[in-house]
Amino acid sequence: MTAPLADFHLAQPGTVDEAVAACAKHPGSRYVAGGTDLLVNMRRGITSPDQLVDLSGIDELTALATDAQGMTIGAGVTIAALARNILIADKYRALAQAAAAIAGPSHRTMATVGGNLCLDTRCIYYNQSEWWRSANAYCLKNRGETCHVAPQGQRCHAAFSGDLAPALLVLGAEIDIAGSQGQRRIPLSELYVEDGKAHLTLAEGELIVAVHLPAKPPASRYEKVRTRGAIDFPLAGVAVALTVKGKTIGALRIALTGTNSRPFLLDGTDAFAGKALDDKLLQAIDRLVQKQVQPMRTTLASANYRRLAAAALARRLTANLFAEASA
Ligand SMILES: Cc1cc2nc3c(=O)[nH]c(=O)nc-3n(C[C@H](O)[C@H](O)[C@H](O)COP(=O)(O)OP(=O)(O)OC[C@H]3O[C@@H](n4cnc5c(N)ncnc54)[C@H](O)[C@@H]3O)c2cc1C
Ligand code: SF4
Repeated sequence: MTAPLADFHLAQPGTVDEAVAACAKHPGSRYVAGGTDLLVNMRRGITSPDQLVDLSGIDELTALATDAQGMTIGAGVTIAALARNILIADKYRALAQAAAAIAGPSHRTMATVGGNLCLDTRCIYYNQSEWWRSANAYCLKNRGETCHVAPQGQRCHAAFSGDLAPALLVLGAEIDIAGSQGQRRIPLSELYVEDGKAHLTLAEGELIVAVHLPAKPPASRYEKVRTRGAIDFPLAGVAVALTVKGKTIGALRIALTGTNSRPFLLDGTDAFAGKALDDKLLQAIDRLVQKQVQPMRTTLASANYRRLAAAALARRLTANLFAEASA
């Protein structure tokens, strides 16, 4: 059961500067792009901003262009546009695979890159109706005092479950952010911290404007495990990018989503450069993944299943990509 939407003011800026100014003028505003995450949470009474700043009328956010430096993808580009872009499918394959695996076709038509990167974290005790959450005394992430997943602690372990971030992380993406202090560019990895209650490092009113990808990316792939194949968030999602040098690995990057409160690049893969890809190396990857993922009881699938699934995906994607890149 969903509650009626509370009243809110709607700002409809035509430029990035106007959007930032509208937010600064009205503290507590929220940006809305496709609305496929935010409006669901508003209907569930999880959040009720006084003002929504609608990004859909800002043309500069929908740019998708290439030059000698690489590719620039505006934050307002839809997931459907990413999934059908031939250049992305050819050169940034993990990104195309991740986009095609997001939600269902009608969501992808509305959903945007910026909204996907800023997706709220998820948990079975949080993504529920108002009456369900109130009957369970809410929880630490929203209006309550206890985390039902880890009641002894004071931290929220809700999982980040966006599909694009791991693909963009292995491809070396950077993002442009606009705020009342001007624009800045950061590596995508710096957008996130391991805290289910506040996983984004954006200051109040900051807006993601665009994502930048390098001109010569490594070969890459993305795969996820989910409950329903046709439409579902990842229980675990893994992106891998690698280069091959002779018969050995040149460089290897692995990134994960769905298991922690942030998407993250696996630490320790630099040590595989110059090594042959054999069973021993795949087992080492398996161990690294199992050590660094932190799935908790935030989904109906068990935490251990998600841990093992993440490790299995990382092994399989690395082996397949190495075989393809060496052929
Ligand atoms: C049934 C269902 C299934 C789904 N399955 C998946 C899935 O498999 N994988 C997946 O990744 N997602 C999934 N989603 C979530 C969602 O559809 C996508 O993540 C989508 O890309 C969100 O984009 P949006 O533009 O709709 O975001 P919105 O709902 O508009 O915004 C989401 C958040 O991002 C903020 N925001 C939006 N744009 C910006 C910006 N440029 N700068 C700063 N903040 C911004 C908003 O303020 C809000 O907090 C699913 C949703 C539903 C309802
Ligand atoms: S992990 Fe705990 S605090 Fe976070 S949403 Fe779930 S129950 Fe709430």
